[in-house]
Amino acid sequence: MGREPFQRIDDQASECVSFLGEICAIPAIGPENQGTGEMAKYRIVKDRVLALNPDQVEEIHAPDDRVPDGVRPNLVALFGGRDSSRTLWILSHLDVVPPGELGLWDSDPFQPKVENGFLVGRGVEDNGQAVAASIFAVKAVRETCGFALNVGLALVSDEESGSLYGLDYVLRNRMDLFREQDLIVVPDAGNKDGDHIEVAEKHLLHVRFRVKGKQGHASRPDLSVNTLRAASHLIVRLDESLATRFAGEDRFFNPACSTFEPTKKEANVPNINTIPGEDVLYFDCRVLPDIPLGSVLEEMESVSSSVESAFGVRVALEEVLKFEAPEPTPADSPVVIALARAVQEVYGVQPRPTGIGGQTVAAFFRKRGLRAAVWEKILGYAHAPNERISIDNLTGNAKVFARMMV
Ligand SMILES: [Zn+2]
Repeated sequence: MGREPFQRIDDQASECVSFLGEICAIPAIGPENQGTGEMAKYRIVKDRVLALNPDQVEEIHAPDDRVPDGVRPNLVALFGGRDSSRTLWILSHLDVVPPGELGLWDSDPFQPKVENGFLVGRGVEDNGQAVAASIFAVKAVRETCGFALNVGLALVSDEESGSLYGLDYVLRNRMDLFREQDLIVVPDAGNKDGDHIEVAEKHLLHVRFRVKGKQGHASRPDLSVNTLRAASHLIVRLDESLATRFAGEDRFFNPACSTFEPTKKEANVPNINTIPGEDVLYFDCRVLPDIPLGSVLEEMESVSSSVESAFGVRVALEEVLKFEAPEPTPADSPVVIALARAVQEVYGVQPRPTGIGGQTVAAFFRKRGLRAAVWEKILGYAHAPNERISIDNLTGNAKVFARMMV
């Protein structure tokens, strides 16, 4: 590749920043967060994409009565390359989260402004930077050397509230657009140095333990069954047994081990002189992908019955949320190799594959056997007040995407 696409990205940097500012001035907030959806922002983004003359355009709108337009918009645009056997996909999302407490912002979250090499506003990082960088990467390559392989831009709604009307909808209806050999990049998480390529997730499990005993006067424990005491022992026993039985480590992840955290505890009695007859507590578990969640639940059941017999309570266990991690994207798959090479060329760092503790939108691809990698160089302001990006990252990330296209 010559330097032409990179030069073009630098030449169009201010146009890219003003485009990003323009789209982030529109609060594309989903109905779960009392917003009216993505359509107004979508129209501007779509015009930009159509101006690049894609070879194929698909609008895959998900019906949703809760928004004025009746649909949540999703766009796929394909650009033919010299090798049409594979497509490089870049997927980004249009929706944003609400600004939160306005007093924490130094400026209007929906009047993005440039200051000292940064652009500040709600949605500029999550996920506006990726929207603008991917569109301007396509533009730069289109106007210079052309695409070595097919390039697909996917711009979707509803990422912040579960993707049912976004990527999940697109894949349920148009799975045929994506092929096993495609390279799929999801620039929706990353770090400051840009040297993490996320390829794997842990299982996620939320469990509720409802401990039932017998309420009574605090002066008569002989007539009561104290659930707070039993629940306390339950937590300690779970803590010890889960950590011991599932002690394996995987260096991809940080932390490298599975984690089992007691988190929420519901209020029991309002006064001090009553022995509680019911206590409810929760565990948040992030489990390494090679451990079946069934064996974790089994261990929890057996600890619960040991507490039942020791303290005379009943313990009912309930899964509140269970998300089984899909097969990881192999560290030597083409998308990871191509990303790592491009990142190294643009940023001079050697990225490494990593795993994370939670669910990303890449899971929707992975669970269908498609290899997706999550990468972005970002400042780390997603969902925070005074959300910002650096313009250097915006153009640098565009160059990484452009490098993968040529
Ligand atoms: Zn996001």
